[in-house]
Amino acid sequence: MLTYTYMERGQFELTDKPKPMLKDEHDALVRVTLGSICTSDLHIKHGSVPRAVPGITVGHEMVGIVEEVGKAVCTVKPGDRVAVNVETFCGECFFCRRGYVNNCSDPNGGWALGCRIDGGQAEWVRVPHADQGLTCIPDSVSDEQALFVGDILATGFWATRISEITEEDTVLIIGAGPTGICTLLCVMCKHPRRIIVCEQSPERIRFVREHYPDVWVTEPAGCREFVMQHSEHGGADVVLEVAGTDDSFRQAWECARPNAVVTIVALYEHPQLLPLPTMYGKNLTFKTGGVDGCDCAEILRLIEEGKIDTTPLITHRFPLNRIEEAYDLFENKRDGVIKVAILPPVSPVSPEVR
Ligand SMILES: [Zn+2]
Ligand SMILES: [Zn+2]
Repeated sequence: MLTYTYMERGQFELTDKPKPMLKDEHDALVRVTLGSICTSDLHIKHGSVPRAVPGITVGHEMVGIVEEVGKAVCTVKPGDRVAVNVETFCGECFFCRRGYVNNCSDPNGGWALGCRIDGGQAEWVRVPHADQGLTCIPDSVSDEQALFVGDILATGFWATRISEITEEDTVLIIGAGPTGICTLLCVMCKHPRRIIVCEQSPERIRFVREHYPDVWVTEPAGCREFVMQHSEHGGADVVLEVAGTDDSFRQAWECARPNAVVTIVALYEHPQLLPLPTMYGKNLTFKTGGVDGCDCAEILRLIEEGKIDTTPLITHRFPLNRIEEAYDLFENKRDGVIKVAILPPVSPVSPEVR
C-alpha cells in the first residue's frame, strides 16, 4: 500500500509498504477514507520530535472504516465508520482511570500513531487499543466534519474543559491557527461574556472575522492594551495560549487578570521564562501539557447537534499520491491554506507518481 514515510531528518517520502496486519487482540485495522496534515508532522520532519522513529508512516489525523478487529475489541466492528484518536491508551492504568490518557503507562501509550508506530497518511492503519482509540461517527456526520475530532479538535476541547470558563468571563485565545480555531469553537460552546482572539496573520484575522463575527480580534502588538480596555478586572479571566511563538507565553500571563487560569496548549521550540518575581502576587494558575484525548464521543455529539463545525478549516484537498504537493502548500502556508484533507489515492496509482 501507499504510505508517506519519515525517512530521516528533513525527509518524508511516498513509499510502498505491506498492508498492516493485526498484532494484538486489542488492535483494529482501519481503511483510511480521509486524513490530514498537522503541524506536528512538520515538527517530525524537522527533527524536533526526538521520539519519532525513522521509517514510520506519518499522519495522526484521520477517519476511516473498520476492516478487521482483534478478538478483544468490543466497541467497534468491521464496517463501522470511525474517528481515530491521536492518542493510544489502555483505559486501565492509573492515569487512564483518571482521564489523564496522555500519560497512559502502556508502552504504546500517548502519541504513538504516526510518531512511534505507523500512522494514517496511508491507505490502511493498525490502531492499537481500538476500544479507546476509535469512536463511531454518527450517520449524519460526514468524514470531513469528523476529520479533526481525534487531534486538534480534541485538543481544543480538552483545553477548554480544563480552563474553568464561566459565562461571566472574558476569554483570551492567543493564536488562530487550526488548533486555535478549534479551541475557539469549543470555548464558544461555553458561552463566555466575551472572546478575544489575538492573531498576527492578516489571512487568519480575516478568517475569524468572516466566520465568527461576534469574536473580538486584536494583533499581538496591541494585545495587552486591548485586553485591558475590554475586560473588567485588569485582564482576561481565562487565557488559552495556542500560538507558541517567542512572545506568546509572556503575553499569555501578562494579559491575565490576577487569579486567572492560563492554559498553555502551545508546543514551544525553546524553553520559556517564568519570571516569578514579576508575577508575584498575581496568583495565577497555569495548566500545561498535551491533550488528554478521551472526549471524542462527546465532541462527535456536539458536531451532530450542529454546535461545532470545523469544515471551514478544510481549504484544500489532495489524493494521497499527491501528498507531497499538499505538504509543500501546508508547510509554506500558501494560497490561504488552513488545513488540507488527504483523500485515498486516485487509482490506479501509476508507478511514476510514487
Ligand atoms: Zn496533530
Ligand atoms: Zn493507560
